[in-house]
Amino acid sequence: MTTRTPRILVLGTGGTIAGAGSGGTGTAYRPGGLSLEVLVGHLAALGLAAELVPQEIARIGSQDIGWDEWRALHAACTAALADPAVDGVIITHGTDTAEETAFLLDLTLPTHKPIVLVGAMRAADAVGADGMRNFANAVKVAGDPAAAGRGVMLVMGDAVLAARDARKAATSAIDAFRSFPRGPMARVTPSSLDWFGPAHRLGEGARYGFPESSPRVAILTAGAGMDEQPVKALLGIGCKGVVLAGMGQGNAPASVIAALAEAAASGVPVVRSTRVDEGIVDRNVEVDDDALGLVAARALGPAKARMLLMVLVANGVTDARRVQAAFDGG
Ligand code: ASP
Repeated sequence: MTTRTPRILVLGTGGTIAGAGSGGTGTAYRPGGLSLEVLVGHLAALGLAAELVPQEIARIGSQDIGWDEWRALHAACTAALADPAVDGVIITHGTDTAEETAFLLDLTLPTHKPIVLVGAMRAADAVGADGMRNFANAVKVAGDPAAAGRGVMLVMGDAVLAARDARKAATSAIDAFRSFPRGPMARVTPSSLDWFGPAHRLGEGARYGFPESSPRVAILTAGAGMDEQPVKALLGIGCKGVVLAGMGQGNAPASVIAALAEAAASGVPVVRSTRVDEGIVDRNVEVDDDALGLVAARALGPAKARMLLMVLVANGVTDARRVQAAFDGG
């Protein structure tokens, strides 16, 4: 147990947790309208047992996040992980793409200190705003030495979710996140934290190098009656990988599957995931992955399958067997 007050680096990126302009009851607001200093000031006023060190990376809606911000976040986390004076990191983030940023950092950072993303579904000045509670919960997690060795986490609504499992499942409900295939890792409140199992990634280094390039990997959503032209168009603009958000267990019309197999044969890795909200896509169910050189996304939905495929391609992993091994890994 840490005997001194934990020192937590707070990296701000914007999002609804820093949203302003709702006028209390309105629906419209600006994500990132509030500065990180103001947010952290509100939190400090709660008298939590933590020293918070703010560092603003961006003030944007997370729909606009990309490689510049991800590079800055990765560098700041890497510095914090090496700094003995820092015990944990919190990243304030919009909820639209929190699962993508969390998963990217989870794949590319070691696990020896807690790194926690936190967001909110209601703007900071909206009646019933959830941001301050989520933020206070995140402080509880990031300041707990037992949070190390669990990979990057997302704290939303009194639950702690693993980056690989977290998924936004509702557009505006306050209880917007789901955890699949594993349930939440812990239950948290501003004054309590109960882990449901031991840290399973203690001592783990970064799984992959942080991408130096940003390979174009597209998600193609399957629809009934579609043809193969969209696949050709994606290859035509130089996609280095394709994720199919397929029907059911990653299915698509025969002509689309044939075009995807052609792409795989030409060296463009193709991962079959699903447009269904939740569920596993297994190999060789209705599509003969072995014969066609395709990869099954297993439990990863399209957004996270795309993120993993970008990291793999940037690290030179494009062979279907090795890509499949990465998707099989927990
Ligand atoms: N569009 C916002 C964002 O992702 C939504 C939110 O934060 O809840 O930044």
